Amino acid sequence: MPKQLLSILILFLSISAFCQEVEQCGHTAYMEYLESINPGIKQNMDVTFKQALTHSKIKTKTSQDTIHTIQVVFHIVHNTAQHNLSDDLITSQMRVLNECYTRTNPDTINTRDIFKPVAGDAGIRFVLATQDPNGNPTSGIVRIQTALTAFGSSPTSLALTDRVKQATYGSEAWDTDKYLNIWVCDLSSRGRDGLLGYAYPPTGVDNWPGTSSFTTADKQGVVLHYKIVGENNPSSLATGEKTAVHEVGHYLGLRHIWGDGGCTVDDYMEDTPPSSAANQYCYPSINSCYSTQPNDLPDMIENYMDYTPGTCQNMFTQQQVAQMRANLTVFRATIFSTYIPAPPAPPIIYPFGVFSSTLTNDVFVSLGELPEDDASQYVIKFFTPLGQVVHEAALSNEAYQAVNGIIGLHGAFIYQLTRDGEEIAKGKVVLGF
Ligand SMILES: [Zn+2]
Repeated sequence: MPKQLLSILILFLSISAFCQEVEQCGHTAYMEYLESINPGIKQNMDVTFKQALTHSKIKTKTSQDTIHTIQVVFHIVHNTAQHNLSDDLITSQMRVLNECYTRTNPDTINTRDIFKPVAGDAGIRFVLATQDPNGNPTSGIVRIQTALTAFGSSPTSLALTDRVKQATYGSEAWDTDKYLNIWVCDLSSRGRDGLLGYAYPPTGVDNWPGTSSFTTADKQGVVLHYKIVGENNPSSLATGEKTAVHEVGHYLGLRHIWGDGGCTVDDYMEDTPPSSAANQYCYPSINSCYSTQPNDLPDMIENYMDYTPGTCQNMFTQQQVAQMRANLTVFRATIFSTYIPAPPAPPIIYPFGVFSSTLTNDVFVSLGELPEDDASQYVIKFFTPLGQVVHEAALSNEAYQAVNGIIGLHGAFIYQLTRDGEEIAKGKVVLGF
């Protein structure tokens, strides 16, 4: 199907919200819509998804040490003052995204022990753009007033909600190959909160028949309902600021952990247990696909790709992480820059020896490179040339240190350094001139 025709269809067809009374994320609706206009595409997506999965299994071990950084632009499309979220809410949302995509969020302590071994750090960082597409300085937050009171519809129509990305009603995307565009607007319909966010999965896949693109480039990105953006949002709903984490997961190619089907439908992640449907509550005992297998696991309500309240979402799995990183590399290769953390600076190692300062009458000892957790006893003694001990000091187990207690010594002395009573160095030192 030509892309133009697909775009026109997107404009005029609406998508049924289904699966549950409140379809809080538009991803499922979107996939069903694709299938309706292009029968068989879901199956082909499965094939491609599995290919990326294979890729991710190869990549994961070598790429986890790199951090991918994505620059973000927020489009705040507001009709009322409530929609026009403060900069503080946006920066707190950025912090939450960064924490959840580096597994540094404090609530990771709530990940149950059974799932801790498969929890993963995505190593993805998000920064607000500092340059707009024309190279001008920017805060990374665009504010546009709209005449539309809300963008939602019932049933959900992404053609209608996508109006937030048009200049007429909202704010046009910045180059979607360079920026992650996040639109914030009122997604309610007739005053009712339903759709909380949606995102298009990665695009530009060659071997998907019928279309080379899930959507046009100008629509790539994430759309969020204004009530769930940022921490302590005055209008907050249960999923809260973790909704953005969920939608960015779709943007990077993840599926819902229940696979948008039943117990036999997979999300293709081997480390997420099957679940029969979206979970809306933090019930740790829920095991919606119970089996008598000895290693049967409950539903992973901690996973960002469920529908559970944000208070119990605290993890991606290692395979989800690998999948997102592989998808970034394969399908969104121009949107991130890779930062390879510098190796820690090597400690300064002074050459082994004893050094004196005749100006301050201090003596310093370098013990060289000490083994970690060194428990040896180091002692330094000073003798006159005739062998009389004039000073003795115990040393700490530090590579470089001053010798305490040398007062009033003038002249040439012999020093002897011992480790656990055995001499390891001996020499001459001049003090006090
Ligand atoms: Zn979703």
